[in-house]
Amino acid sequence: MSRFVADLIKQVKPSATIAVSMKAAELKRTGKDVIGLGAGEPDFDTPDHIKQAAIEAIQAGQTKYTAVDGTPELKQAIIGKLSRENQVEYQANEILVSCGAKHSIFNLLSAVLNPGDEVIIPTPYWVSYPDMTLLAGGQSVIVETTVENDFKLSAEQLAQNITERTKLVILNSPSNPTGRAYSRNELEAIGQVLLANPNVMVATDDIYEHIYWGQEPLVNLVALFPELKPRCVIINGVSKGYAMTGWRIGYAAGPADIITAMRKVQSQSTSNPCSVSQAAAVAALNGPQDCLDVMRVAFKERHDYLIQALDELPGFSCQGGQGAFYAFPDVRGAVAAIDGVNDDVELATWLLEEAGVAVVPGTPFGAPGYVRLSFATSIDVLKKAIERMDSALRTAVK
Ligand code: PMP
Ligand code: GLU
Repeated sequence: MSRFVADLIKQVKPSATIAVSMKAAELKRTGKDVIGLGAGEPDFDTPDHIKQAAIEAIQAGQTKYTAVDGTPELKQAIIGKLSRENQVEYQANEILVSCGAKHSIFNLLSAVLNPGDEVIIPTPYWVSYPDMTLLAGGQSVIVETTVENDFKLSAEQLAQNITERTKLVILNSPSNPTGRAYSRNELEAIGQVLLANPNVMVATDDIYEHIYWGQEPLVNLVALFPELKPRCVIINGVSKGYAMTGWRIGYAAGPADIITAMRKVQSQSTSNPCSVSQAAAVAALNGPQDCLDVMRVAFKERHDYLIQALDELPGFSCQGGQGAFYAFPDVRGAVAAIDGVNDDVELATWLLEEAGVAVVPGTPFGAPGYVRLSFATSIDVLKKAIERMDSALRTAVK
């Protein structure tokens, strides 16, 4: 690497999820027959009424800078959404709209972390949390969860890992990559630990909340524990639920002093998110919501098919989740059985070469021995991917 690159950046890994999607796209471009199950984005098109709102915004000349923290209309739509769907009340100075939820998280970490501050991140985690923590000068404290615990951080684990340097805990429910979601009881136990530790902030990454089919309703931590509101930042956005990944609109809701600090970071880096995308996001949040149901039903159907099909593959073992659009099978059996394959990273390469299926290894999610497959693609494509993996694995796994 160039001697001009900063030492800190040399330690940061590129996003593995993006790397796999790019690799699959590149192979396809060169004529290779690859099924890409790496990408974490809905295959659905953005609903028409949302696109129409963007077209109208362009025609009405909404093509200039907006307020750094988002247009008043969008902030109002977010406040309405949080009140209606999550039973939490916010004011305009407690909302920051950013260029995707990823940017919201980056702003948050940049705004609150002092050098060496600790961020508790349960495994399996979304690949970007630890590297963003590193970029912001913080220290990740990785807490391992297990399949027996349904891949969720327990209250005991949280309590055990809090030190005087702990600044923040990140919770993601439903989770990328496991699809698991915290129940009300589990959140209550976690909330109690947070109440007992007044110097610890919490960020809830709710980006997959609309892609959820669990038995009990999802609960918001702030709705459950209003006392935590002064130190909780809710992260959400329109990317996943409304099939709007390319529009880049995410947002944070939190205490005014933290939102002000995050806005300062944004005002000195990107300024406002795209004006046209903000108009589209208003239509998404205020417009008809039936598109959410259509997509959720399709994701659930694919989930049910894929989890069972993966569980039947030689050397794979797979359990389902309650949301998001990822399957996260244990592939240790396949790794142990295939000559020349020593871990999940090598298995992902093997699956690409032998079956033409792109998956993301579990290691960058902090979960070696697993791989992540996205089911944000049609059942037909998933069936084809399963057939190919099955025939490759049947010859290799004895
Ligand atoms: N959080 C999680 C858990 C995610 O999977 C993603 C997907 N990229 C994001 C946040 C960010 O989403 P976006 O920036 O597209 O809003
Ligand atoms: N969140 C998605 C994923 O995990 C999109 C890619 C990214 O931003 O990491 O695949």
